[in-house]
Formats: sequence, C-alpha cells, structure tokens
Amino acid sequence: MEVQRTAVVKLSVPDDRRDDLKLTMDTFRDAAQRFVDRGWEGNNDGYVITSRSHVQSLVYDDIRDDTGLHSDLCVGAANHAADALRGVVDRMKEGEKVSKPVFTSNTTVYNTSAISYFDGYCTLAAYGSGRVTAEYVYPDDSIQAEYMESDEWGKQGAKLRYDHQTDTYYLHVTVVRERDDPQEEAAGRTVLGVDRNVDGYLAVTSSGAFIGNADYFNHKRREYERRRGNLQQQSTRSAHLTIESIGERFSRWSEDYLHRVSKQVVSEAVANGCDAIVLEDLDQIGERISNGKKFQQWAFREVGRQITYKAKAEGITVEVVNPAYTSQQCSHTECGFTHENNRNGDEFRCQKCGKELHSDYNAARNIAARYLRNWRKSGSEGATNHLALKSGTVNGSGDYTPTASSG
Ligand SMILES: [Zn+2]
Repeated sequence: MEVQRTAVVKLSVPDDRRDDLKLTMDTFRDAAQRFVDRGWEGNNDGYVITSRSHVQSLVYDDIRDDTGLHSDLCVGAANHAADALRGVVDRMKEGEKVSKPVFTSNTTVYNTSAISYFDGYCTLAAYGSGRVTAEYVYPDDSIQAEYMESDEWGKQGAKLRYDHQTDTYYLHVTVVRERDDPQEEAAGRTVLGVDRNVDGYLAVTSSGAFIGNADYFNHKRREYERRRGNLQQQSTRSAHLTIESIGERFSRWSEDYLHRVSKQVVSEAVANGCDAIVLEDLDQIGERISNGKKFQQWAFREVGRQITYKAKAEGITVEVVNPAYTSQQCSHTECGFTHENNRNGDEFRCQKCGKELHSDYNAARNIAARYLRNWRKSGSEGATNHLALKSGTVNGSGDYTPTASSG
C-alpha cells in the first residue's frame, strides 16, 4: 500500500525569471478557463464534458497555437479544467445549485514532464529562456526536507502557487512512499499521535499528515449563521421553513466533513501499521479549547468520537494522554526541552537545540512519545499495569502474554 503526502515548499526564484513564471501562470489559468468554457458548453446536448481526454481534444491545438504554452502545461490545464467540471457535475447530481467554474487563483499544475526535482532545487517549464531553476527554502530538520531529500519518498507532480501578499511562490509536491512492512513494526508498539485543533488544521498526526482545514470549516459555519440571522429577521412561514432546511443541510455537511477527517486519521494509522491511536485527554484539555466557540468545541470532540469508533472497526485501540505542555515541549528525542517561547503560532523552534518544525506536528509527536513512555513505565511497575492489547497483554520489556493464560 502506498502512503501519500503533500510537501509544501517555499521557492527562491531568481529575480530575472519571476516575470516568466508569472506569465506562465497567467497563461495557464486562461488556458484552463478556455477548456472549462468549452467543456461546459458541451456538444449542445445539455451535457457537460468531464472526461480529461475529451476536454483536452476540444481546444488543445487552438490554445497551443494562440499562446505557445508548453505542451505539458497545456495538458495540465486541460486536466485541471476537466477535474473542476467533474466536481461541479458531482455536486449538481447531489441537488446543489451550481455554476460554471471560474479560475481566479494563482496556480499552475506541473506534471512530471513539466517539472524536474534535484537536490535542493527544481526546474520548471516556463516562458522565456528555458526552464526556471528555483531553490527550495526550508529548515534542515523539517518534514519538508525529509519529503524532498529522502530517497524513500518518490516525487510526483506538483502545483505551483503564488501568494500575492508575501510575493512568494510555493510548490505543493505530491510525494509517495511504500508502506513499511508491518512485520518489521510488529516487534515494538507502533502508535500514532494525533493533535486536534479548533483552528488551522483540524488534525495533525505524528507521521506528518495535516488533515482537515479548520479555518474553512469555521468559515462555512459563519456563513451559515449569517444566512440564518438574515432569515430570522423575517417572520414568515417560508422563512421559518428555509431556516430549518439550511440548518439540516449544514449539520449534514459538517458531520460529513468531520467524517472525512476522522477517516483520514484512521487510514493514516492503518497505513503506518499502528496498533494504537493516541489523543489528548479531553478531561484535561478543558481550558485550551474553552476559548473556542461551542461549534468548534463540538467539532473537536466529534473528531475524537469518530476516530474512536472507526479505529475500533480496524482493530486499533484509542488511548489518551495528559496534554499538558505537549505544544511547548521539543519533540526531538535527545532534547525534550520545554519552554513557552519554543512555540510561536504555527512555528515551533526549540530554544535549546534549535529544532524547527510545524508546532502541531511537534505536538503530535509528543503525544505519541508520552504515551509510549507511560506504557514502558507502567510495565516496569508490575503486572497489574500491563496494557491490554487485542489478544493479550504486553509488558514494558515487550513480553507478550496471550489472553487465554491468566498470568
Ligand atoms: Zn530541543
């Protein structure tokens, strides 16, 4: 089985090539829009065209003639357009009111023919004199460095995004790795630590998966509340019925969103051969989420509830640890230094050893490590503290006792 991740890497683009890259991005977006326009039009039979190859065949030659866009990027634009059309048609089938997709974001899709990866830099197909060479910018010890530099991770296509506010290019690279042989990991306990949040990412795992966009989730809630508020000012029967129906629709949507999040967390545990998922103990987490709104607190708990029953179905146990200082402590095995200044928003930088990583990822690693430490400790304290596994117990030194024997 394959494990897939997205490495988000800041790029350093030479000044004399920034315009070339920008022109490429703008042309790509216009091309994708032309593919969408044509696919939306269809064959005058009322059907939208969503097949990648069909969409591509419609205006590929025209676009190449008109713009001279690199052939691989032109194929990428067609695929990007077809995927957007497919998404809209899927939503239409679910009864949603939809309109033609409009591309406004600064994104270029690079398939593996349009981008090449090297040690510390990549080259991107673009207008101007040959490919653009851009260096990666990230701390040595970061998860991005691991994704981009380790041979274990195979690099696939990427999306190039431009952030106006900071005038910065970011590369979102899809990286894949073969799942480790579960036999190897069975020798010791393998656990997945999960850090849940009410903003940023809804869940971040100790294996480096960033799952669910809490900011988007909260934004959708605010949108819903605004609509409901407007309707409440009207006291007609139809307004009342509409409030009920958008309320039901929103609760279905939010449940569904969280289901996707919890499902991904459990898949992550399965893919990494974990026998336990470790969460922060809710009874002890009180004040950290009490600043969040009721809705956010509900989402936080709901993700935990869903993870618990989905994990059970996979034969994976769910454990909890005391969450105190998991966000302030350095997760580097040889360090462990705890200080409130270690963390600054999303960024964690250890004041002692200098390790830098995403703060939620750091917290997730601490959650997993804390559980394993407790587990080893409890084993050495005596038989009564053995930990229950699926089919028996294991003590701190890894000695296994099957359930049948009453030892
Ligand atoms: Zn440290």
